[in-house]
Amino acid sequence: MGFFFGFGKARRDFFVKGEERGRQIVEPELVTTRRSTRRIQIGHIPIGGDAPISVQSMTTVDTRDVMATVNQLRQLKAAGCDIARIAVPDLAAAEALETIMQRAPLPVVADIHFNYKFALMAAEAGISGLRFNPGNIGSAWKVRELVASAKDHQIPIRIGVNAGSVEKRLLKNHEGEPTPEMLVESAMHHVHILEDENFHDIKISVKSSQVPTMVAAYRLLADRVDYPLHLGVTEAGTPRLGGLRSALGIGLLIAEGIGDTLRVSLTADPVEEVAAGIAILKDLGLRQGGLSLVSCPTCGRCTVDMISATERIEKKLGGIQGDVRVAVMGCEVNGPGEAKAADVGIAYGHGVALLVKQGKIVKRLKPEEAEDALVAEVHEMANS
Ligand code: SF4
Repeated sequence: MGFFFGFGKARRDFFVKGEERGRQIVEPELVTTRRSTRRIQIGHIPIGGDAPISVQSMTTVDTRDVMATVNQLRQLKAAGCDIARIAVPDLAAAEALETIMQRAPLPVVADIHFNYKFALMAAEAGISGLRFNPGNIGSAWKVRELVASAKDHQIPIRIGVNAGSVEKRLLKNHEGEPTPEMLVESAMHHVHILEDENFHDIKISVKSSQVPTMVAAYRLLADRVDYPLHLGVTEAGTPRLGGLRSALGIGLLIAEGIGDTLRVSLTADPVEEVAAGIAILKDLGLRQGGLSLVSCPTCGRCTVDMISATERIEKKLGGIQGDVRVAVMGCEVNGPGEAKAADVGIAYGHGVALLVKQGKIVKRLKPEEAEDALVAEVHEMANS
């Protein structure tokens, strides 16, 4: 593989020989020189330093509805989410936090925009982290009180700047989207407020819906601070487009060694955000476990409806926890060979489907039997 990213500093030496994965496949891995960052802790999840890059998401239900919130937190946890954020837009939501935190199955970050009292309530309720921008809460005494509470409860604060939250003074005489420099200046304004209170338990995000802006902003920020960075393309869109934009922006940065935690923001069930985040990390070789499904694009040799078949197989295999690579291929000529990198695969042919395990054909099946046979094999492998 001979590409490299034509930017960044001394971050180009990240293709190294992959390690033996216990069988004949040796593959190159995208290994980065991780940017050195401070370590913080959101609940039991470490962020920064040499901690694994964590995957975050955000609940979409009404936080005042405790049962709905806890149920969604459970779904996120089951999907592999490391940290979930919940919005705290009003007093009733802040009051619900205590019960939510008693039942939350994973660390939770409270997202608070202006009302510092909600942040104080969240800290008392046992929240694992706060997301608010100290420059938005007004008086210095309020900031001091909040910082004191965060210190007492050992709660990190995420400063989250995005294109919509940049201060008017920075946008003066500027039209259109804020520039990367403006996003970073805004973030640094909030950082300095916390640092002036001797608070350093910080992580930062500078998100934009524009991938080039977001990438440039994180690069600038990475040169200014050693706090861990939370990556994301904000308002990324639907699973298809938003997933692509996020993979591009987040993937570029991680390949350069920038980023300690991430969220793929999608207009979708947040479980899909988690799946997309995990997929990005898995494809970068930074996360193990779970299903890795590849399928051929099909061509004139294919005799089955591969698109529907692959979608059904992916659905049936949702939630697999074991580390299994699965291939779905459209013909018996090239399929078995192209499926060699997988643990198990199916190659459809004329009136036949070949079950392939670790590069070898182990069964000839009727095409209509293939999906169930493949799913059974994957479950067996995942549980072995
Ligand atoms: Fe075409 Fe077969 Fe390759 Fe699929 S595996 S793209 S059907 S040649």
